[in-house]
Amino acid sequence: MSRHYDYLSIGAGSGGIASANRAAIHGAKAAVIEAKAVGGTCVNVGCVPKKVMWYAAHVAEAVKYAPSFGFNLEQGQYDWATMVKNREAYIERIHGGYHRGFQGNGVEYIEGFAKFVDPHTVEVNGERITADHITIATGGRPMIPDVPGAEHGIDSDGFFALTEQPKKVAVAGAGYIAVEIAGVFHALGSDTHLLVRRDRPLRDFDRTLTDGLMERMQQDGPTLHTETTIQQVVKEDNGKLTLHFTNGEQMTDVDCLVWAIGRVPATDNINIECTGVDVDEAGYVRTDLFQNTNVQGIYAVGDITGRAQLTPVAIKAGRQLAERLFNNKPNAHFNYENIPTVVFSHPTIGTVGLSEEDAIVKYGEEQVKVYKSSFAAMYNAVTPHRALSFFKLVCVGKEEKVVGIHGIGEGMDEILQGFAVALNMGATKADLDNTVALHPTSAEEFVTLR
Ligand code: FAD
Ligand code: NDP
Repeated sequence: MSRHYDYLSIGAGSGGIASANRAAIHGAKAAVIEAKAVGGTCVNVGCVPKKVMWYAAHVAEAVKYAPSFGFNLEQGQYDWATMVKNREAYIERIHGGYHRGFQGNGVEYIEGFAKFVDPHTVEVNGERITADHITIATGGRPMIPDVPGAEHGIDSDGFFALTEQPKKVAVAGAGYIAVEIAGVFHALGSDTHLLVRRDRPLRDFDRTLTDGLMERMQQDGPTLHTETTIQQVVKEDNGKLTLHFTNGEQMTDVDCLVWAIGRVPATDNINIECTGVDVDEAGYVRTDLFQNTNVQGIYAVGDITGRAQLTPVAIKAGRQLAERLFNNKPNAHFNYENIPTVVFSHPTIGTVGLSEEDAIVKYGEEQVKVYKSSFAAMYNAVTPHRALSFFKLVCVGKEEKVVGIHGIGEGMDEILQGFAVALNMGATKADLDNTVALHPTSAEEFVTLR
């Protein structure tokens, strides 16, 4: 006798957990199968440990600014191991919360690696499990490039596994992870080098943000090496790495190389072929707006769909799927437009809607009006580390509808959420102007732009 469920998620990360809990709340007999650790990437090797380390970096910055505020502090040797110990204890507590949630909702948690046997059956630990509805929520894993010696580097999972702080670090990549990891290493005192293969990191972001980020990196940040591609990594007899670049230059005495060049989908080893589910060239599962695959009864949510690889996206898409399947809401689906996002750089970047460049492509240059400002936040303006924050609104048409909100500066991660609500509701520049400023804050810039 095989077990049978109404709803089964392969993967208990952000998307799988959210969808199974919601399905069970609506009365479905639901289960999740997880091969590694409950919570998936976000909780174990993503957002959560990253944000803890970002806070560590934030504290280090505060200590640096402290003398200007009258504190007589000295920043001694940083104890990386203590931070890791406390971070992992915190993650353990989150695991407990998930399991209590499953128990409360009646979701069954199955440990093991699942493979499809046919479109309605998976095999895990030698047991066959069937379900009316199966969701692929297997996420992804870091990509390692095909260059000689690449194995001497680590990836973001390896970064979180570090138990001591490396002295000299090279981070290769130009996306969220590279920028965030390089920022943490630098703030905590490693000699950090960010290696990007083109002219700037975060190339898809509004240029005001990346200009601001690069300016800040020059003042106080990891050393940015643009147009730099690693051709070969050599491990020397003393254990240090030498990085050979395609331009003939090299970097020596590197203690730790981190590859942060993107992620690959985890569909390659789940026998997806036997289901007939369509995947793209990279292996991402093709879905429609309702998270349906081309095979009836099989869905996909989260990173595995290759769209907006963010935790809240996986969660919302998963919940909407469960609402549709088990709460009689046939039109429930996640709206992939205007997804706000934050990069935990130093300082943070917050962005929602269209960049100026994309707005011009979409609406034409004559329709687009941009408002910008910059100012030195009080937090560091009184210190020798004075630095500029940048704010930008992208508006279109006569009514100046706000289609893009972008900022880089202290607290931008917390500021953006409310402004994303305004953009989603169709706010115009006049609506923002009509809102009374909160003073003195950075956020008030967005309602006082001229
Ligand atoms: P995952 O969370 O990856 O979960 C998939 C789960 O499926 C995993 O636990 C895996 O073990 C399991 N699995 C895979 N195959 C099988 C199988 N065959 N059988 C059983 N189980 C299986 N997003 C943000 O919004 N904010 C952030 O600050 C942020 N920071 C990040 C930092 C880093 C370093 C990384 C790597 C990612 C970050 N993300 C962040 C992205 C976020 O973590 C992902 O978008 C999110 O975790 C995706 O959820 P998911 O459910 O699709 O997949
Ligand atoms: P990204 O896809 O964001 O960025 C990777 C970048 O690395 C590419 O865009 C590319 O930039 C560069 N790159 C690609 N291949 C190579 C190569 N062979 N050598 C050198 N550089 C290369 O991937 P990440 O791994 O940073 O993050 C994955 C996803 O996780 C993100 O897209 C995001 O959705 C999510 N995430 C979200 C976070 C948040 O919300 N704060 C934090 C961390 C991750 P270019 O073409 O410019 O060289």
